[in-house]
Amino acid sequence: MDLSEFVEGASVQTKKPHACGGDRWRIVRRGADVRIKCLTCGREICLLPDELKKRIRRTEGKA
Ligand SMILES: [Zn+2]
Repeated sequence: MDLSEFVEGASVQTKKPHACGGDRWRIVRRGADVRIKCLTCGREICLLPDELKKRIRRTEGKA
């Protein structure tokens, strides 16, 4: 997986589900860190790109 896949608006699936049980996220903002939003509960979290890369199972491109 390439970091260039983390574009704003892309959907991603994490290896481990969020606390709410959802594993689908949308990339909200891509900068020095990446803000992603849980599509199940709407909560947003910030991760470093390298951390995000480790947590993600796959990206689903821009919806
Ligand atoms: Zn959630």
